[in-house]
Amino acid sequence: MNTNTFNLLNTQLFKINFSLTSDQLEQFATYTSELLSYNAHTNLISREIKTAEDLMNRHILDSLSLLEFWDEFPLKNPRSLVDIGTGGGFPGLCLAIARPELEVVLIDSVGKKTEFLKSVVKTLNLTKRVQVEWGRIEEIGHERDFRETFDIVTSRAVSAMTTVSELGLPLLEKDGSLVTYKSRTGLSEEIESAQALIGQLGGGKATIHVPSLGNEENNHCLVFITKQKQTPPMFPRAWSKIKSKK
Ligand code: SAM
Repeated sequence: MNTNTFNLLNTQLFKINFSLTSDQLEQFATYTSELLSYNAHTNLISREIKTAEDLMNRHILDSLSLLEFWDEFPLKNPRSLVDIGTGGGFPGLCLAIARPELEVVLIDSVGKKTEFLKSVVKTLNLTKRVQVEWGRIEEIGHERDFRETFDIVTSRAVSAMTTVSELGLPLLEKDGSLVTYKSRTGLSEEIESAQALIGQLGGGKATIHVPSLGNEENNHCLVFITKQKQTPPMFPRAWSKIKSKK
């Protein structure tokens, strides 16, 4: 482990008044080295990412950028989070490490990704509060154990606002928050055209938060949507319907 790389995490987090303990830094170091060695033979994230520093700059800090806005959730002291389309664990596993009070579910439809996550969650000793689910979110969203259950839903680099809203809002309890990590390019128009569907799904007006953390290249911001009322049972629809835009 390169300790300096991980101490840099705290230097960055200091900007947003947050700091990680040495145990949490150790967990990030373990997660990073497991991910890089798994990625060398099985594609989980871009092969361009080869070092812990790349991973920290491109994925980990961006995932943690949500911490800056933690006090702004309408539901104070959130306890549960589900990350939909988590891939290699971004942002869900990073947030699980940084916020030990959270119970976290990581969902992805690609088996090699969930297999990796199951193994790393075990290595990190997080099995009591981090669950990994292999499956399609549009199906899981109808299951009793998951529907209208979570305080926070996160989604990073998964799909357009309309799709993410349809997949994410059914999983939230009332007053919970859907947080979508998006690039700022064309975002206002994308939100505007999604707002009618968001309303049908029980969501309120989307608001944009620009984080201080993360790298400038990705131009990311966070879109917050609060769940205001129950989602009608027909949502989420089958994938073919979601994608048909009708
Ligand atoms: N969130 C991660 C990140 O930021 O690095 C992964 C982003 S990757 C571009 C999108 C992920 O969403 C993929 O791992 C894909 O398998 C998953 N995904 C997309 N649609 C899904 C669905 N309907 N159900 C479950 N997983 C889905």
